[in-house]
Amino acid sequence: MGSRETSDAIASAHTTFYSWSKLTASERSKALRKWYDLIISNKEELALLMTLEQGKPIKEALGEVNYGASFIEYFAEEAKRIYGDIIPPTLSDRRLLVLKQPVGVVGAITPWNFPLAMITRKVGPALACGCTVVVKPSEFTPLTALAAADLALQAGIPAGALNVVMGNAPEIGDALLQSTQVRKITFTGSTAVGKKLMAGSADTVKKVSLELGGNAPCIVFDDADIDVAIKGSLAAKFRNSGQTCVCANRILVQEGIYEKFASAFIKAVQSLQVGNGLEESTSQGPLINEAAVQKVEKFIKDATSKGAHIMLGGKRHSLGMTFYEPTVVGNVSNDMLLFREEAFGPVAPLVPFKTEEDAIHMANDTNAGLAAYIFTKSIPRSWRVSEALEYGLVGVNEGLISTEVAPFGGVKQSGLGREGSKYGVDEYLELKYICMGNLN
Ligand code: ADP
Repeated sequence: MGSRETSDAIASAHTTFYSWSKLTASERSKALRKWYDLIISNKEELALLMTLEQGKPIKEALGEVNYGASFIEYFAEEAKRIYGDIIPPTLSDRRLLVLKQPVGVVGAITPWNFPLAMITRKVGPALACGCTVVVKPSEFTPLTALAAADLALQAGIPAGALNVVMGNAPEIGDALLQSTQVRKITFTGSTAVGKKLMAGSADTVKKVSLELGGNAPCIVFDDADIDVAIKGSLAAKFRNSGQTCVCANRILVQEGIYEKFASAFIKAVQSLQVGNGLEESTSQGPLINEAAVQKVEKFIKDATSKGAHIMLGGKRHSLGMTFYEPTVVGNVSNDMLLFREEAFGPVAPLVPFKTEEDAIHMANDTNAGLAAYIFTKSIPRSWRVSEALEYGLVGVNEGLISTEVAPFGGVKQSGLGREGSKYGVDEYLELKYICMGNLN
């Protein structure tokens, strides 16, 4: 599909907006709830499709179906709680009201690493608010998107309320940007494309929310519980084979615990099973494509040429194709690509540090600001460091922190806006102030 099909989808979303937004919140809620039920009752099929097209192990795929569905369930409930306000007036013959109304047609562009959840996290709140949507899923994972859209149809969500276009990404993107009917762009993906979409939204002054790349620090202090730190950093690093924007990208380890942590961490990484995602025992699937493997290779070469040393892995897996060995790299420093950019692969760089101040400085020494993790047993330190980190999400003694009930989003160049939670609906609403005068 290209610009013509995208324009057709926008027109269909625009027409449907007038009927969908007029339904009661309860009617929209019921349709969303039905969609949720259908996703859950087709969970195995969806997970299988996801593993086949994206490569994540089946257990993780099942986890994503539950996680993805949770946004539909949550926003089905939230649809009924989108309250306005009545403001005490400044003149006695007036009444001042604030209405919350849907922004209109939404263009949602999503990535391949969470083929279902990145769609439902946008479409759930959009539909709940009364918006209609044109989704452009990643070209690498169109099937999960189509299956989810088909289930939405079965649930009674009208075809025009949820449209899926796929094909030529820049052409589809430009058609969404140029349309005056599309009032909002919501995007998850690379920082480079996000910036293009933000700039492209200026012409028609669209609302924009962006979830872009991260460069997550995972800070392990001397006073951490080592087992908790190993479990948490392993989960934060190797989920989806390192291919998430909240994956620990740099593991900063305080000098006093560095050797002990490194040897226990390597042992844990050695236990990760690489292979076919359809096998129950697999915990690490392939990378998404050859370009992803080449990026990891480039980062490893850069790090070793600057003095880092490979402690485990460091090369393509013997399975071939796009499998890469779970890797641990020691003595990484801030002049290396592994420190400065997202590797988006199964590579854990260990970076030694001396003091808490050093760790905070190193953690914040980046343009990204999505997720950060800290491991410490000290409560005062948890507060101090959490507050000093320039990040949208902080995990304290925990490596997996995303949930539909909490706000997800970044600061600095990691993005704009929040998804999920009660805050997630704000991105799809406009405030309207109504002044009723001369009431005496
Ligand atoms: P990733 O590295 O995660 O694949 P991308 O930003 O390249 O990140 O892709 C995320 C989404 O953005 C995908 O759906 C992709 O097709 C889409 N995309 C890529 N380039 C453009 C563009 N110029 N306009 C609109 N969408 C784009």
